Amino acid sequence: MSENSNPVFDDKWILAKRGQKNSVDPQKPYSWLIEKERTMSGKIEDVAIIFLTNRECPFHCLMCDLWKNTTDESVSPGSIPNQIEWALNQLPPVKHLKLYNSGSFFDERAIPKEDYQKIASLISSFETVIVECHPKLINEKCLVFRDMLKPELQIALGLETVHPETLSKLNKQMTLDDFSKAVGFLNKHSIKSRAFILLRPPFQSKEEGIYWAEKSIDFAFNSGIECCIIIPVRAGNGAMDLLREHGSFSPPDINSLETVLKYGIGLNKGRVFADTWDLEQFSSCNDCLDSRTSRIIEMNLNQWVVGRVKCKCKATCDSCQAAED
Ligand code: SF4
Ligand SMILES: [Zn+2]
Repeated sequence: MSENSNPVFDDKWILAKRGQKNSVDPQKPYSWLIEKERTMSGKIEDVAIIFLTNRECPFHCLMCDLWKNTTDESVSPGSIPNQIEWALNQLPPVKHLKLYNSGSFFDERAIPKEDYQKIASLISSFETVIVECHPKLINEKCLVFRDMLKPELQIALGLETVHPETLSKLNKQMTLDDFSKAVGFLNKHSIKSRAFILLRPPFQSKEEGIYWAEKSIDFAFNSGIECCIIIPVRAGNGAMDLLREHGSFSPPDINSLETVLKYGIGLNKGRVFADTWDLEQFSSCNDCLDSRTSRIIEMNLNQWVVGRVKCKCKATCDSCQAAED
């Protein structure tokens, strides 16, 4: 940022701040795991997640680090089904599957359309399959894929934030209207959608981070989203680290995540989850990290509000001072 005190956060600026990508194998997903999730029916069930290796997303959002495990060029037709087959052989049988590709499933340069049928047959034993997609790439292709599938298709969309200036600075190249139209299209075709919502993106104070995450949940549900996932924003992609150095970004704290999760669940408009990956990054108190993490997991799984953690360090630790009750 020293070269320009008022930079435009466009592709050029963001790409110039990147480090190296990780080395990936186009015939293998870069990760896979099982997690528990409360399903729409209210049951807590295992969900397999396969993180597919494919060409990087054509959008370059300011806060995104998903490019790290992508290829520069499209993977050849057949590679994505090979990756899915390979991962399914490693994973225990479960009913629900997320196919996350660090971008948009319906970006044909990421997932070739000619692979849809093979993918559909490989995943025919699941009850639900969830893919992710940029709202601007939601179109008839979703229906083509849906019509090949035995499992129910659900689609995750990044809303990020409804703060108008921040959304524009994130370089997502999406308006709130684009988001609502995508959700409307999916609802019209009976496809359930979930929204990723950022907690404290750059240019927001702690209080603004909470306020705008809550407003974003409101907007998502009012648009017809079925489920919201709150993602605490982190540095690590180059651009975000620079913003952090210059005071334009500070990561949220675990208390803010608890506050927004409590708000979202309290609305009773749909499922609301907090992302629990690497929560130690967001805590400054080792005494209560485990109990706060357990509280968040319990709230995620049961969709009820659990009493606030009372930490013995209450008067001194940042996380604990910030407790809302
Ligand atoms: S659209 Fe999603 S995957 Fe693509 S750059 Fe933005 S956040 Fe990352
Ligand atoms: Zn504490």
